[in-house]
Amino acid sequence: MRQVVVIHYHEIGLKKGNRDFFEKRLQENVSRALRGVAEVPVRRLPGRLIAPLPEGVALDAVRERLRKVFGIAFFAFGAETPNDLDTLQQTAWDIVRPLSYETFCVRVKRAEKRYPMTSNEVERAVGAFLVEKTQKKVNLTAPEVTCSIEIMSDRALIYAEKIPGPGGLPVGTSGRVVSLLSGGIDSPVAAYKLMRRGARVVFAHFHGAPFTDRSSQHTVRDLVKALTPYQYRSRLYLVPFGAIQGVIVAQTLSSLRVVLYRRMMMRIAEEIARRERAEALVTGESLGQVASQTLTNLAIIDAAATLPVFRPLIGEDKDTIVKLAQAIGTFDISTVPFEDCCPLFMPVHPETRASLADVQAAEARLDVAALVQQAVENVAVEEVEWP
Ligand code: ATP
Ligand code: MG
Repeated sequence: MRQVVVIHYHEIGLKKGNRDFFEKRLQENVSRALRGVAEVPVRRLPGRLIAPLPEGVALDAVRERLRKVFGIAFFAFGAETPNDLDTLQQTAWDIVRPLSYETFCVRVKRAEKRYPMTSNEVERAVGAFLVEKTQKKVNLTAPEVTCSIEIMSDRALIYAEKIPGPGGLPVGTSGRVVSLLSGGIDSPVAAYKLMRRGARVVFAHFHGAPFTDRSSQHTVRDLVKALTPYQYRSRLYLVPFGAIQGVIVAQTLSSLRVVLYRRMMMRIAEEIARRERAEALVTGESLGQVASQTLTNLAIIDAAATLPVFRPLIGEDKDTIVKLAQAIGTFDISTVPFEDCCPLFMPVHPETRASLADVQAAEARLDVAALVQQAVENVAVEEVEWP
């Protein structure tokens, strides 16, 4: 018996024309994710991936890595064997032997319909064999252990535990986006959601230097590190924004500041997107959460961008976002205090319903193109790789 990990995906299976592209990307991502823990060839079999696991490999480490590979519906550690009944029975026994349980069932799927027995017949034959060897009871409705057997034309895969993957689509199959990453709780969750849909995320952070310290940059760097295991390599653009804020403050009405800041961020992010050949921007805004996130203001912010602006959290409550942030490991990083550029020079009563005409009149007093240009020229770019 040869120890393997079997990897199943679901949605990819639906993509008829592009299936090859999706499978190949998943295959590459799995290899990449296993770097340093199991450097093994990942093969494509019809409908699933499979990789041999050498003796003594750290299964916990493999499990940790695969749990972050988008596109995986579930995976299992098991055996790859010939598909004759004797071997199936013997191997099933080997697999369940070390487990502790009272009830079990056998589930068979045949990809090879020419196999001489039906799935049901194999289930009964293997089940009866296990009852005899183990004295355990069969329970078809709520078994403690399910022994799964996948019969293919030239082999079978047998395993006893399905480990859920994160779902979604393989990173790299949906193009590229630029995520505006503030250091707060919301934006890393928004970025995660796009990655989970197969997008590669480039990060942009605006910091208040020279009016703030570097703490927000440390926070976003840590956030990018926490998110990189989902996409293997990330690029972070650190944009000096304090000088632009200074100009806005000097030239325009205080109630419009928050919207003007955001519109400048959009324009700069769009320049970064152009460089990166990214096709959309992503923010962590949620409807009504703060003054800048009213429908009126969101529309005015959008009007500064020509690329689509995605807000995957628009309809989420804060507690849902917090739970997701905890689950993906960004919450504790986002809650370490840092000096944010946005509250800089913020009025007590920011406008919740700015008018586009007022905003445009205010911007007419600024050399918008030059400010964007200047910010883009002064960005610092950092790369993060994992593992
Ligand atoms: P977050 O928790 O992501 O900081 P928030 O609830 O604080 O969001 P805002 O401060 O209104 O909301 O920011 C809205 C969105 O604008 C953020 O989710 C982020 O995408 C973007 N953004 C805000 N400030 C910055 C910044 N300094 N750098 C990059 N993006 C920013
Ligand atoms: Mg914030």
